[in-house]
Amino acid sequence: MEIKTMNSESMGRSNRLAILDLIRKYPGISRRDLVEMTGLNPSTVTNIVFDLMESNFVEEGGKNASNKPGKRRVNLLPAKNAANAILIKMGVENTQIGIGYLNNDFEKIDEFSTPSSADAFLKEIGRRIAKILKNSEKIKGISISVPGIVDKQDISMKILPHLGWKDIKVKDEMEKILGKINIPIYIENEAKLSLMAEMYFNDAIQKMVNGVYIYISQGVGGALLINGEIFLGTSFTAGEIGHMSIDADGPKCHCGNNGCWEEYISIDTVVQKYNSQKQLKGSNFKSQFEDLIAKSERDRFADEVLNEMMHYLSVGIVNIVNILNPQFVMIGGMGEKIPNRYIQIVRNEVNRKALDSATKDLLILTSSMDMIQSALMGCTLMAMDEFSKGVFL
Ligand SMILES: [Zn+2]
Repeated sequence: MEIKTMNSESMGRSNRLAILDLIRKYPGISRRDLVEMTGLNPSTVTNIVFDLMESNFVEEGGKNASNKPGKRRVNLLPAKNAANAILIKMGVENTQIGIGYLNNDFEKIDEFSTPSSADAFLKEIGRRIAKILKNSEKIKGISISVPGIVDKQDISMKILPHLGWKDIKVKDEMEKILGKINIPIYIENEAKLSLMAEMYFNDAIQKMVNGVYIYISQGVGGALLINGEIFLGTSFTAGEIGHMSIDADGPKCHCGNNGCWEEYISIDTVVQKYNSQKQLKGSNFKSQFEDLIAKSERDRFADEVLNEMMHYLSVGIVNIVNILNPQFVMIGGMGEKIPNRYIQIVRNEVNRKALDSATKDLLILTSSMDMIQSALMGCTLMAMDEFSKGVFL
């Protein structure tokens, strides 16, 4: 945690932010835990906690007996309704709308099929945002998860390959539809949001600072955790690992290159491979992929297709591991559905092929949340982190 040392006023404010962040991350934490974790002196922590309670960001959540006899500890909780955010998880097929809260709870409230034109999509979300804003004064941010490349500076979607959209100025368009709303709009790629959510809640990787998140969906995206920060790159495209070529003479990708990784391991590719000989059940690629996994125990061809997917997954992971030497590689998006017996094939192949010292302490695992949960969670974190910073920095 960062405790800045500037003038005393800004120091006080950043200490407040640090303490609110800890109460959000560890709901039920006590003042004594806060003293231990921040290294601040107990009276400073007490003052800050009372101040946060007075301004309704934090509340007491019942009393627990502590280890020491005769002493009781007070659990501190973030006040759920101190701030809310509108969450929009855009998918190529469907878009979910949710509400996120300061205590990191979120709920999905609505879903619609994503229109094929960007114009129709913007009008649709504009209409839904307006309706929510009319009924709630607590909305402090709007968070959008995007299946493509974004520009966080001018709040636009640069490229959405599977919808064929380019340069959609979300903020400008929302202002045209909604007028000046004075509520910030945040935008981020879905893989980066999913990694944010896992870093926050998944005990298996919580203490790790270097890792790669592979987001398998209709294409393949990714996010890089480097020295504890999600690496964005010069123009926010870092982590587009689906476009790492694994065969210079391989099939043409929509990005213009040949043999991109996603041409071998995306859900579309894998499902199409099976459907070229037999037929999977389900109305979309996601449900068909689930059917493929369900079939794999008794259908030899389904098992073969998945084995081939695991082979190509390993080929790419070997490259990534040799370049980045991460502590973990997390397979997420629809990859979360892959059973451990297949992930074990990946572990074995990566261990065999990658540099020995790069795999010594490597953890390869699937994500703990499904693709909708993790994007909505990431959207909640993004809006609430920015809201807290806005109040205290
Ligand atoms: Zn490509």
